Amino acid sequence: MDDQQRQPYAFSFETGDGQNKKLLGGKGANLCEMTQIGLNVPPGFVVTTQACLDFLENDQLPEGLADEINAQLTALEEKTGKGFGDPNSPLLLSVRSGSALSMPGMMDTILNLGLNQETLQGLIQQTGDERFSYDAYRRFIQLFGKVALGVPDEAFDKPFEEIKRREGVKADVGLSAENLKEASERFLEAVREHTGRAFPEDVKEGLTLAVKAVFRSWMGKRAIDYRREFKITPDMANGTAVNIMTMVFGNMGNDCATGVGFTRNPGTGENLMYGEYLVNAQGEDVVAGIRTPKPVQDMATEWPDMYQQLEGLRNRLETHYREVQDFEYTIEKGTLYCLQTRNGKMNAVATVRTSVEMANDGLLSREEALLRVDPELLEQLLHPMLDPDHDGVHVAVGLPASPGAASGKCVFDADRAELLGNAGAKVILVREETKPEDIHGFFASQGILTSRGGKTSHAAVVARGMGKPCVAGAEGIEVNTENRQARVGDHVLIEGDVITIDGGNGKVYLGEIETVPPEFSDDLRTLLGWADEAARIKVLANTDTPDGAVTAADYGAMGIGLCRTERMFNAPDRLPLVVDMILANTTEERQAALDRLLPVQRQDFEGLFKAMGDRPVTIRLLDPPIHEFLPTERQLEQELAHLRQLRGTIEGMRDLVGATKLMGDPEKVAAAEKIPLPADGVELIDEAIAKKQLMLDKVRELFEINPMLGHRGVRLGITYPEIYAMQIQAVIEAAAICQSSGQHVKPEIMVPQVCTAQELMKVRELVAPLQQRVASETGTDVNFSFGTMIEVVRACMRAGQLAQVAEFFSFGTNDLTQAAFSFSREDAENKFLPFYNENRILQDNPFEVLDVKGVGRLIKTAVKDGRDQREGMKIGICGEQGGHPTTIAFCHEVGLSYVSCSGPRIPVARLAAANAKLRAEEAAAVKLRTEEAA
Ligand code: PEP
Ligand code: MG
Repeated sequence: MDDQQRQPYAFSFETGDGQNKKLLGGKGANLCEMTQIGLNVPPGFVVTTQACLDFLENDQLPEGLADEINAQLTALEEKTGKGFGDPNSPLLLSVRSGSALSMPGMMDTILNLGLNQETLQGLIQQTGDERFSYDAYRRFIQLFGKVALGVPDEAFDKPFEEIKRREGVKADVGLSAENLKEASERFLEAVREHTGRAFPEDVKEGLTLAVKAVFRSWMGKRAIDYRREFKITPDMANGTAVNIMTMVFGNMGNDCATGVGFTRNPGTGENLMYGEYLVNAQGEDVVAGIRTPKPVQDMATEWPDMYQQLEGLRNRLETHYREVQDFEYTIEKGTLYCLQTRNGKMNAVATVRTSVEMANDGLLSREEALLRVDPELLEQLLHPMLDPDHDGVHVAVGLPASPGAASGKCVFDADRAELLGNAGAKVILVREETKPEDIHGFFASQGILTSRGGKTSHAAVVARGMGKPCVAGAEGIEVNTENRQARVGDHVLIEGDVITIDGGNGKVYLGEIETVPPEFSDDLRTLLGWADEAARIKVLANTDTPDGAVTAADYGAMGIGLCRTERMFNAPDRLPLVVDMILANTTEERQAALDRLLPVQRQDFEGLFKAMGDRPVTIRLLDPPIHEFLPTERQLEQELAHLRQLRGTIEGMRDLVGATKLMGDPEKVAAAEKIPLPADGVELIDEAIAKKQLMLDKVRELFEINPMLGHRGVRLGITYPEIYAMQIQAVIEAAAICQSSGQHVKPEIMVPQVCTAQELMKVRELVAPLQQRVASETGTDVNFSFGTMIEVVRACMRAGQLAQVAEFFSFGTNDLTQAAFSFSREDAENKFLPFYNENRILQDNPFEVLDVKGVGRLIKTAVKDGRDQREGMKIGICGEQGGHPTTIAFCHEVGLSYVSCSGPRIPVARLAAANAKLRAEEAAAVKLRTEEAA
């Protein structure tokens, strides 16, 4: 490209485009913007990121850059009336890096560039302050030496510390002009020693070296690591700009100061200037902590007119950027300069509060206020978090499976968790993996830690549903349930040892770490109310208990999108009934057990309907393979062995009594008779053995090599129609009870694992007679809708046929993802998936963020075919991905009616649903404008 065509490599602050952060870097663009809106910014210019990229390509300054820099320097000299390298009135510059995204790890700042032996004398004369001038000079040599010439810190620190020690001063401010002069000379010497040449006296050469050093820092290890860690792609930031600005000094006397501020409090969001300043100091002094800065509010009394000016700057920045700003300023001899501004980083509380207040004050529209908050940030507000200042060192890392943090005594089985938890202890349930029968342990625990399983494992899904923290698949942990011990690396945990888990990042700590409580504030309610008004897609809850439903309603759930009824079967009062149902050998026996389950289920459903009022409640019929309600084969074998041993012991004790009688010693007979022998002991044990043996036989009978693809879901409902019939009857009866007491209910019955319309029709056949029976028995006609989950690939391909029977679809994307990828949802996440993600074979974990390209295509096909058959059909998603903002944006785009997610994800999903709609509208408007312009 010839010079005529290419964009300039350098822009003065008066001419650079303040919106073009990619070209000028964030810092540079803001300096241009601030200058152009009339804020007092020291004059300067920006060398572009393009110049950086061109430099890196050939490892030499691109042609034309030196001329442009010279031209900018001449213009600066004119603006300031000073000369670069002019001993009579030296122009001094600061040089800073700055890419499109703020990126710590790149080059440090160089200050006072323009000083050399000659200009130093000029500075002394001009300021009349030898100490100040030598201080500026030694800082320059030190920074330039380190940054541009690669001299190590110690080369400067050592002589400087020596001088301080010799002079008996602790802080730099205690050094005299003479001391600083000596320091400068020793620094120059250090540079010569390390670089093998004299410190550059030519100021222009100095500037060129500084610019090159900034460019090179883009490819420095720290910067590359940072970009990799935070997934900063060239699309987001490519190359660094160089900001070259006239120096202003906050350390020229008591009418000078330096400070940093936020336009609002970044910790609370309060609409009050926040920050610190230091009189007669340079920015570095604040950072180095040499002197303690004062809160900016002190300036209001100590320096009222300057405080007024600062307030003016704050207001101007906020009204212009319409965002909280984090800014830096210097006051030089009573004049306020703004040196930098950027959007303030805030915690979740402050982000929500400022959004609501800025919208209420008219600074932002409600839509802008919503878009300003990252939905994921809300997670912080809903769970206890570890104290951000804790200094705990983690001993293991697993998958962050359910957010929040908790401490407690570790226990290794659900019964112990229940026992200790109910006795008031805080416990963490630590298991290799959890099973449905562990559910009572979940209730009693503060959090769950497993060494196997992924983010859709039983532990993860259940914990998320309950809003309890969970770290899953922490592979370094070996659990030994029998010995009530676990090994974590070199540590052995014994039951009762306290641990802390952080489900937000998967870390496990020994001992207790303080947590900070969650806060569902009025501001958050207000913001989410606006979100509901803006969103098109509805947000429902995955929850299985009336308590869960009440919590979900409080989080703003617009109904229940998935009640996994099997969860209800696991409660301790139901499990025996379920076991009887499974052990039944005949339909009659099974019906007898189901008759006892019916009232319990009915009560459950009534509870859900009551909690949700007139909002829809989707009840999914039984899904998992029934062997999951029974103990494992190994466990049963062990229990049987123990029972047989016990039986032998009791018989042995009876023999002992008999034997002592034969001995003819009355004392021994009396002693033997005192040994407590349970009455009917053997009979009781025999009964237990018989039951356990029956269970073992059943477990063996039900055994499947691959139960996840086996006898489960609708397949169960078809082979044991009485199970589904009982559940359907319970739903209709519960709805009738609610309806007859005047409550409007919206029950929905949903069938899992369907792959053909024939299956659905079979289940549908059960419905009508039950509906009629309830109507004639209670006099109440119950209306409900009948739908299907779509969670197998064939169901997506046959959605048109399914829609002939189903009134609604709900995508079960946990199973659908498993089916589409052929990745086990139980194992993939802690086996090969992290490797896949790290090596970019897959961008995301598809069990967390919906795979739009593959699974999403299946969904699109099913939505289209379903709605072609049944116009306006209600279609949602209820897999774990349904609470993830990116997935929600996809669901919005393909026209789903709702997403359903675990209770604590609901606020995140409500905001994400609004943002998805607003972003889609924005994109459509841009497209329209582009088309119109074309
Ligand atoms: C699913 O498969 O996405 C689903 C919601 O069902 P479950 O997780 O209970 O299998
Ligand atoms: Mg499923």
